Amino acid sequence: MEYRYLGKSGIQVSALSFGSWITFGNQIGDNVSSDLMACAYDHGVNFFDNAEIYANGQSEIVMGKILKAMEWDRTSYMVSSKAYFGDGGKLPNQTGLNRKHLTEACHAALRRLQVDYLDLFFCHRPDKKTPMEETVWTMNHLIQQGKILYWGTSEWSALEIMEAHKAAEKLNLIGPVMEQPQYNMFHREKVEVEYNKLYSTVGLGTTIWSPLASGLLSPKYIGKFPQGTRLGREELSWLKERSVTEERLDKVRKLNDVALELGVSLPQLAIHWCVQNPNVSTVILGASKVSQLEENFKTMEVIDAIPSEVNDTLEAILENKPIHPLW
Ligand code: NDP
Repeated sequence: MEYRYLGKSGIQVSALSFGSWITFGNQIGDNVSSDLMACAYDHGVNFFDNAEIYANGQSEIVMGKILKAMEWDRTSYMVSSKAYFGDGGKLPNQTGLNRKHLTEACHAALRRLQVDYLDLFFCHRPDKKTPMEETVWTMNHLIQQGKILYWGTSEWSALEIMEAHKAAEKLNLIGPVMEQPQYNMFHREKVEVEYNKLYSTVGLGTTIWSPLASGLLSPKYIGKFPQGTRLGREELSWLKERSVTEERLDKVRKLNDVALELGVSLPQLAIHWCVQNPNVSTVILGASKVSQLEENFKTMEVIDAIPSEVNDTLEAILENKPIHPLW
């Protein structure tokens, strides 16, 4: 496993990490969750990603039980939570980035994950109704209390991230260190263009999500629609509608041919494509089966089988290279 600094911070994160969205406390049983965590840890993963909204808190409960049972040295791994959407309640103050909800969400995550502190704590989305100063003050306070170590954002615009830094600088507080954006072969703009300046100015780190576009970047959707997969789940029909288009499937077929020619699998090619971006600190993997994770971790072993020249072939297939602004 390779370890990378999380932006300009002093903390190092494994280039591949592991998250629990859709799976833990929902799609898969707790035994499978435990096997997946063990597999990830054994492959050198040192960051496990979670959020209050995942299975309405149940995902954190499952992960917490596993962390406790595994008895891994607390210094050997990092665990996160994300707040904004709440864990099911929709009353005023049960969601958002106000001081009350952020504080209560942090306390709930600590309780459910059974840890004394969160290594990373994310604002899961921007909150236009809460003053930026209130959010930054709260995160700074949680750090001072020793309840979280680093804080960051998820799916914020570059402007919002800069506003947080401006507020932090003005008030002499600790600003956000990392952003958690979607990044994969089909979704590139934010990471490759919008945040471009932030990597060098504020030293933004990134913990990117959905490297396989929820499994679309694997050969399984090319033929007859498969049973028992994420994009076949009824509650995710919106995601299927958005992702499984004929245009994308056509590209997936061509990408799969390139992978086969290189002697790697399509998920490995797609994960490698994310890892090779130097502005990606860690690629958060998801999996419903240990065999998937085993396959995905092999990406780090097959790096030499994927020459950089292949990028031109991939760009020709994807036809979505973002146009960089002049700065
Ligand atoms: P992926 O895009 O990699 O999708 C993972 C899913 O793809 C698996 O659960 C599995 O689904 C399928 N899959 C994985 N490996 C393979 C393989 N080798 N062959 C075939 N199918 C495979 O990542 P996620 O969307 O899960 O995102 C990763 C993590 O990022 C999440 O767990 C979460 O922690 C975080 N995240 C953060 C968000 C945010 O807003 N901040 C939003 C979404 C995720 P199946 O077997 O069911 O088909």
